[in-house]
Amino acid sequence: MNEYDSDYLGQVLVSSNYLPTDNPKQADVILINTCTVRAKAAQKALSLLGRMVPLKKRNPELILGITGCLAQQEGSSLMQRFPDLDLVLGTREKERFESFLKRISTSREKIVAIDMDGPLVSPLPNNGYFKGRVKSFISVMEGCNNFCSYCIVPYVRGREVSRPPKEILEEIRHLVSQGTREITLLGQNVNSYKWDKTYGFSSLLKEVNKIEDLARIRFTTSHPKDLSDDLINIFAELDNLCPHIHLPFQSGSNKILRLMNRRYSRERYIDLIGRLRQVRPEIAITSDVMVGFPKESDEDFQMTLDLIKKIEFDNLYSFKYSDRKGTSAEKMEGKVDDSKKSSRLETLQRLQKDITLGKNRMLEGTRMEVLVEGYGKRNGQLTGRTASNKVVNFSCNNNVIGNLIDVKIQHAAVNSLQGILTNMNH
Ligand code: SF4
Repeated sequence: MNEYDSDYLGQVLVSSNYLPTDNPKQADVILINTCTVRAKAAQKALSLLGRMVPLKKRNPELILGITGCLAQQEGSSLMQRFPDLDLVLGTREKERFESFLKRISTSREKIVAIDMDGPLVSPLPNNGYFKGRVKSFISVMEGCNNFCSYCIVPYVRGREVSRPPKEILEEIRHLVSQGTREITLLGQNVNSYKWDKTYGFSSLLKEVNKIEDLARIRFTTSHPKDLSDDLINIFAELDNLCPHIHLPFQSGSNKILRLMNRRYSRERYIDLIGRLRQVRPEIAITSDVMVGFPKESDEDFQMTLDLIKKIEFDNLYSFKYSDRKGTSAEKMEGKVDDSKKSSRLETLQRLQKDITLGKNRMLEGTRMEVLVEGYGKRNGQLTGRTASNKVVNFSCNNNVIGNLIDVKIQHAAVNSLQGILTNMNH
């Protein structure tokens, strides 16, 4: 979501005649896009902002701003903490970015804009910004109505709002005309996408599937409680929809799931995965899991490990619980100490690493279709992903970036597969 937002703001800058630079010392505008979903992400953003302040001291003409969820949450207190800031731009204020830039550069005004009633942004006119991008993200809805007890998102992204399908489809067609072959539809809770009574997320997917020259469709993130039969069945129906779903489970203990206000049980989660595997046997399953939620006992943690063994996820994003200001979990009793969280995280990650490696090794010797995304880290290597979202590196002297090619997998590691090109005719 933040990458999508950064692209929108980047396009505004390009159409206002700014050029991108990799060197902050040369910049006329620095806008830091932030995340506050975990304490670590927020600390990283603030430390980056702190490192940019000396540049502003050296060049008072520099426009220094902060945007994203941390900006939305902290608002004017950021201006007090960092008096060199020129702009605090909230999550629903992006449409006014251009006018704020003009006001700051002409009158050196300081602006804090964190109104939550602003519109979702619409695509900007084509200025070549996306030329040659093989994979693109597109936001289809924003906000969340779920209020999981640990989560800051409903407070900083507001309630769910869906974008009009016509606008989404036009934006995807434009991206495809610029070279995009794979699109990821984004939303905090994409399954809740709804345009009218009869037009939901499955209807949108069906229309995206008809777009010519678009080879692959993905979406993220889904909530298990909203994963309908309709959406499960669509994995068997749409040829361009990748066999991969990211379905956060967060905990394997029903007690913790209740405290998290997730509104599904471990049994329901296991059932959903079974049905997904029934309609699309090769589907890859990835998930998010949290350790050390308040009142998580050793037994609750064992239930999480047990669920991981049962499902055998392709990959897991695992985190230690951290208090987020204003959420109901922040006020809960029974906080788990950090050393226990760290040791649980380590145990969990070790287990998942073995599962991921085992699954990847089963692919050795098979042929997989890969969408080539760019150059690999090693000289002469290209890199891409399988439809199941596994990274594949291979040697190739031809420029096949943007093509679907066949690769025979020779060696599997935890984070990537190594293969040899067998067919480059797609
Ligand atoms: S569904 Fe996701 S975004 Fe919404 S409150 Fe829960 S964790 Fe946060």
